[in-house]
Amino acid sequence: MSKQIVNVQEIWRKAQFDTVTEYTWGYKVKSGQSGETYRVFPLETGGFACTCKWGSHRLDEDQRSACHHAQAVVGYITRKTGKTVLPLRASDVPEIYDLGDGVLVLVR
Ligand SMILES: [Zn+2]
Repeated sequence: MSKQIVNVQEIWRKAQFDTVTEYTWGYKVKSGQSGETYRVFPLETGGFACTCKWGSHRLDEDQRSACHHAQAVVGYITRKTGKTVLPLRASDVPEIYDLGDGVLVLVR
């Protein structure tokens, strides 16, 4: 198992200061914190790989990185669609009850 990020909300706030530029191969993300620029690549399996220090230490079998650069890309994509993002730890994902009549209830 790869390392788990526990301060998800803090990482998401950090991502809001990053600058994302889209290319045909993926994204360049300039960190609002360090000023460094990293490359973020969409993966066929879902998620993103990143060239930052955190992203480069991902497992060979799972290259996904949840660093703030990858989260900045998610923010960039969702802003274009008008959707909103609620970052959660995987262990905090709510159960969803479909009560019918168009009503879902989320339970955490
Ligand atoms: Zn990164």
